[in-house]
Amino acid sequence: MQTKYVVILGSVMSGLGKGVVTSSILKLLDFYNYSALPVKFDGYLNYDCGTMNPYRHGEVFVLDDKSEVDMDFGLYERFLNKNMQGNQSITGGKLFGSIIEKERRGGYLGEDVQIIPHLTSRAIEMIQNVGRENNLDVVVVEVGGTVGDLENSYFIEAMRQLALKEPTVFINLTYTPKMEVVGEQKTKPAQQGFRNLLQSGIMPDFVVCRSVDRLLEKTKEKLALFANITKERVIDDSDLASVYMLPLHFMEQGFDKMLMEQLGFGNSINSEKLDMWKNKINNILNPSAKVEIGVLGKYTGLSDSYASIKEAVAHAGAELAIKPTMRWIEGEDLEKGDMSKLDGIGALIVPGGFGKRGIEGMIKGIQYAREKGIPYLGICLGMQLMCVEYARNVCGLEDANSSEFDPNTKHDVISLMDEQKSVKDKGGTMRLGLWECKLKSGTTAYALYGREKIGERHRHRYEFNNNYRELMEEKGFVISGTTMDNKLVEFVEWKNGFGIATQSHPELRSRLEAPAPLFVGLLKSANTSKTANTARD
Ligand code: GLN
Repeated sequence: MQTKYVVILGSVMSGLGKGVVTSSILKLLDFYNYSALPVKFDGYLNYDCGTMNPYRHGEVFVLDDKSEVDMDFGLYERFLNKNMQGNQSITGGKLFGSIIEKERRGGYLGEDVQIIPHLTSRAIEMIQNVGRENNLDVVVVEVGGTVGDLENSYFIEAMRQLALKEPTVFINLTYTPKMEVVGEQKTKPAQQGFRNLLQSGIMPDFVVCRSVDRLLEKTKEKLALFANITKERVIDDSDLASVYMLPLHFMEQGFDKMLMEQLGFGNSINSEKLDMWKNKINNILNPSAKVEIGVLGKYTGLSDSYASIKEAVAHAGAELAIKPTMRWIEGEDLEKGDMSKLDGIGALIVPGGFGKRGIEGMIKGIQYAREKGIPYLGICLGMQLMCVEYARNVCGLEDANSSEFDPNTKHDVISLMDEQKSVKDKGGTMRLGLWECKLKSGTTAYALYGREKIGERHRHRYEFNNNYRELMEEKGFVISGTTMDNKLVEFVEWKNGFGIATQSHPELRSRLEAPAPLFVGLLKSANTSKTANTARD
């Protein structure tokens, strides 16, 4: 079967949720049993996201194959329940890099290498490869940035050319602001966006429009007129109680049927898949209990830095019909020993992180959770600090630390692996991607996963120092999982109460349809309270 293409372009401004729209369209294709994967283009000149600051760019998402990619890949995986691959991420850096490399190898001898046709053809080739290698019915291309930006202009030109060669549907995501005083949905910015798009030689087949309230009929009419489409093809994308409702919201408007028709596809839906999705949404909207989860970290000012943690908690909530809310707590705020910021939380998470800021406050928070019996989940750095806390306060190793934070500590219970000591480059050199792990029977980890051999993703340099294994185990610390060769510690636990941590990042493999076991375990043990309220309260 010939692969077809859906291209999603944003106008007016960034932050409209293009990733959610892309994921929802992928999900619609999945409901109709068509195989589809996304390709994301990002205009920045970094090769990948590995060296970016989570405070500015949001979290770095890691795939099984070790690729460090944009956080939109987290959305795709959470909606589609499929593993993505690094070649689905195209950055300006990768694109220019591959052209320049080829030029140096003599791949263009005698030619002057240009944006058109060389760079644009290369972009098209990269997209087509994803379709071919995975034998796909559809590749859904999300173009990062906004139409009119310099950064993505050559890529948009490539998409115009793609449509000359392959069946391609264009979707423009736009926005109608509403001025409080006038109370009217304004379409001028969207009109400007259409004009920009038309100037690029692209006519949208559908317009998806973000707004706070539902689109009014007259707003749809106006948008349709300026975008050269019929009114039915203007699709409402107003605020919903959960992002996972968007595929269903699209279906209510017949978007799925129109899209399938345009792609020349059949109209039979996989009702089992659809019902499963609807059940999850029902649990999100009608929870029987609620809980507040404390996240004690260092990037709490921008909750995008912990997007996967938040979603993994939401997936566990959707599984158990518990409504979770997050309380973001700065490690630095607990440093003085005042624990009141933790009052009332039902469970505590210390997520991954790098650098020294706030570490001592996080250790105090973990000690408090252990002593007061607050269910605890440690992720990566959160595992390392759980080990440090136990070594200090239970094993009596007073200055125990990670050598990341105190290179001169006598007791480096967390230290650098020999392989890492010689590493100088920063890009792509951590312990990355999927690692297999062996769980010990009789432990909480084993009970939650329900099997011995599991796999989780990694992104870190430091490890548990095996010189302390015996001593810590003697003092009651449980080592519940290791790499298959038993060399690296992967999971640890407290004997009493719910306290578990892993060197991996299980939040990166959590999906609405397949929640991460550790998060389900945490929410099950958390102190919840009954609620008759809906998710909207
Ligand atoms: N900074 C720690 C390390 O490099 C933890 C990293 C993380 O939490 N992802 O090992």
